Amino acid sequence: MAHDAALAELQTFLGDRLILSGADLAAHGQSEAWFPPTPPDAVAYPETTEEVSAIVAISARHHCPVTPWGTGTSLEGHALAVRGGISLDLSRMNRVLAVRAEDMQAVAQPGLTREALNTDLRATGLMFPIDPGANASLGGMAATRASGTTAVRYGTMRDNVMALEVVLADGRVIRTGSGARKSSAGYDLTGLFVGSEGTLGIITELTLKLHGQPEAVTAAVCAFDDFAAAVDTVIATIQMGIPMARIEFVDEAVAAIFNAANGTALPEKPHLMVEFHGSATSAAEDARRFGEVVADMGGAHFDWATTPEARGRLWRMRHGAYPACIASRPGAMGLVTDLCVPISRLAEAVSETRADIAASGLPGPILGHVGDGNFHAILLIERDNADELKTAKALARRMAERAIRLGGTMTGEHGVGMGKKDLMAMEHGQAWEVMARIKRALDPDGILNPGKVVPENMTEVSQ
Ligand SMILES: Cc1cc2nc3c(=O)[nH]c(=O)nc-3n(C[C@H](O)[C@H](O)[C@H](O)COP(=O)(O)OP(=O)(O)OC[C@H]3O[C@@H](n4cnc5c(N)ncnc54)[C@H](O)[C@@H]3O)c2cc1C
Repeated sequence: MAHDAALAELQTFLGDRLILSGADLAAHGQSEAWFPPTPPDAVAYPETTEEVSAIVAISARHHCPVTPWGTGTSLEGHALAVRGGISLDLSRMNRVLAVRAEDMQAVAQPGLTREALNTDLRATGLMFPIDPGANASLGGMAATRASGTTAVRYGTMRDNVMALEVVLADGRVIRTGSGARKSSAGYDLTGLFVGSEGTLGIITELTLKLHGQPEAVTAAVCAFDDFAAAVDTVIATIQMGIPMARIEFVDEAVAAIFNAANGTALPEKPHLMVEFHGSATSAAEDARRFGEVVADMGGAHFDWATTPEARGRLWRMRHGAYPACIASRPGAMGLVTDLCVPISRLAEAVSETRADIAASGLPGPILGHVGDGNFHAILLIERDNADELKTAKALARRMAERAIRLGGTMTGEHGVGMGKKDLMAMEHGQAWEVMARIKRALDPDGILNPGKVVPENMTEVSQ
């Protein structure tokens, strides 16, 4: 095996917390998307920052790749060890280290999941609102600059990570940022590591911004006769400054899929799913103003979910959309696009995307966090059908081109991994080469999550 020397040394250090065969390797070689299984040579389970540092230092000495693993829910093959080596599973570093309620901050280890953090915070009146649907790890969420349904109100991981502890590619441990709400002290290294997908360092501790639990929460779902009316409602709502906590779009195909998966009876039309947070008075007033916009746009079938149970059902259905879409075509796998455009270009982006999908012949239900101008088409491809995969990739490329042409990005929240790497030059031009130089400066031997995000040689930049 290529990395025998590294693995032997690591086994002496970690004992039975280095797994060299069996189901664990297979589990860490799977991804949520269409990438073929890619088991690593070993899975390591560190329990402290010092252990992460030692593992990386040993691996660096032997040029053995190290690919961090949170909960493995990323959608672009991010966490697959495509050059072999170690999958560094951070799930045992899962403690809340401090809650500083007076500063509205929490300090957490990277393997803690967002739901576990919120369970811990329940009695404090505070919450960590970033919600990518999956119960992802906070380290993985920071590494992918995740967001989701609540970003329209609370921002993304970029806005909610204040400070980090990071293990660099040679094993050194650094701290970035501070507990201060702002700082002008030099380069923003926290911002650099947030979204770096494990290619620049391993996050071993995060200081996170917390928010107050809202006094009142109201949610609703409403149907529209056509998608343009739904999208125009979103644009008008955002432009009027109505403070939405969530505003999600699903098209008529997703409404039908929801009915089949959940036994609901939604009209098979485009829908918006919305939520308001605030005091009882402000949430009611926001809902009333939103209702007026919906009425003006011809929306109907306004169903309110006022109890926690009804809201739970509504958002469980929304969060279950991805598996429900996959299940709607037996034997299918998903290629998920993730376009994000300025809100003024949203209607154009969705309209052109719908026409493109219809012309391709592939099923491609559309849904998204449209309050941010972010939407996904889940292209459903028959497993092992090379022609459909080719069609889907060409379609996804056209969608990326469209988002960039409209002043947006080909990935609003999922990130690059390996699936979107070939679109990076198109979006960033020479700035992609600058990213590669940053990678080289911090990880000259390319041991941290190789094969992802940046070009491995400069010829890739000009392609
Ligand atoms: C059904 C479903 C719905 C989703 N919806 C959304 C959504 O709405 N919004 C959204 O943003 N995402 C969404 N995702 C994608 C996914 O949940 C996010 O990308 C999430 O942030 C990944 O976290 P994870 O813990 O699973 O990370 P992993 O998949 O384990 O890893 C992701 C990347 O981060 C790196 N990494 C992990 N931990 C660390 C660490 N401690 N230090 C450095 N690098 C690390 C890995 O190497 C990899 O490159 C969805 C996924 C699914 C399956």
